[in-house]
Amino acid sequence: MSRKMDLNKPVSFWMDKELFWEEEKIENCLTIILRTTGCCWAKKVGCIMCGYNLESDSRITQENLVNQIRHVREKVEEKVRSKRPKIIKIFTSGSFFDPSELSEEVRSEVYSFVEELGAGKLIVESRPEFVRAAEEALKRDFRLEVGIGLETGDDFVRNKIIQKGFTFDQFRKASEFLKEKGIGVKAYLLLKPPFLSEGEAIEDAINSSKLLIDKKLADVISLNLMNVQARTYVERLWQRKLYRPPWLWSAISVLKKVSRMSSMNCFIISDPVAAGKKRGPHNCGKCDGVFAEAIREFSLTQDAGLLDLECDCREWWEDYISAEKIARSPVFS
Ligand code: SF4
Ligand SMILES: [Zn+2]
Repeated sequence: MSRKMDLNKPVSFWMDKELFWEEEKIENCLTIILRTTGCCWAKKVGCIMCGYNLESDSRITQENLVNQIRHVREKVEEKVRSKRPKIIKIFTSGSFFDPSELSEEVRSEVYSFVEELGAGKLIVESRPEFVRAAEEALKRDFRLEVGIGLETGDDFVRNKIIQKGFTFDQFRKASEFLKEKGIGVKAYLLLKPPFLSEGEAIEDAINSSKLLIDKKLADVISLNLMNVQARTYVERLWQRKLYRPPWLWSAISVLKKVSRMSSMNCFIISDPVAAGKKRGPHNCGKCDGVFAEAIREFSLTQDAGLLDLECDCREWWEDYISAEKIARSPVFS
């Protein structure tokens, strides 16, 4: 299906708040999603929950990418001059350091843009195989943080279920390389890959976090709560009632436990995308908004007290964990 896209404009960009954990401050953050030719892994195999390649376009040139950055630069000048971002996140729905997505010259444009805005930190994402190129940003005037979609510490779940295509050991080497260079590491963990029951998913996220914290392989853990993206394998399971996204109760339970074990060595954050929707993480429908807001606030402040929430559906969630363990498939939505 061909869609009309302006190749000289990014997928989207917006301003919000983000925890600048190195300085323990909440700062303005500009997030930009660049439209690239797409993730190289999505072209070969692809992770079963990922619909990001829908935003990609094989016609994109490096010139288009420079124009996308220019477009944001103009808009930022016009609209947000008064609240200069201290953090800039540049996502590509793939790997920032993959030269087939962003050439060295385009990445250099990005670095200059970050310096021009006077931001103190750039956050990008990459698969482990490309992170060595991050060294090029060391001479620049900002901190760098690289997010890697580890998803889980369990190689079987990551490769046999999620089809991620790299091992924990490959992640470990990438993380150690970045940390040696003084570059921040954010590890994304996925809460509730398919074929794991709700209870197993909670356990998997907690064990994976523990592994990262014990081995000092991440400065930040970002807990991604599964949301069902269009035209993915997970969507097909969900349509056949073989998959239910995680409860927000489960997310809260993981965040609370991990924040207790991590103290200040590693932060844990989560952005509950599509919370309260059938395709996203949800509880009973009545408390979803409050839970999602509490998770966002916790992610900014790391105040676990914000996660002490109550709703009548708590018992329902507890029963659900027991029932899904036996049934091996969702028991109700
Ligand atoms: S989740 Fe990341 S690595 Fe996997 S296909 Fe999507 S963009 Fe590529
Ligand atoms: Zn509820």
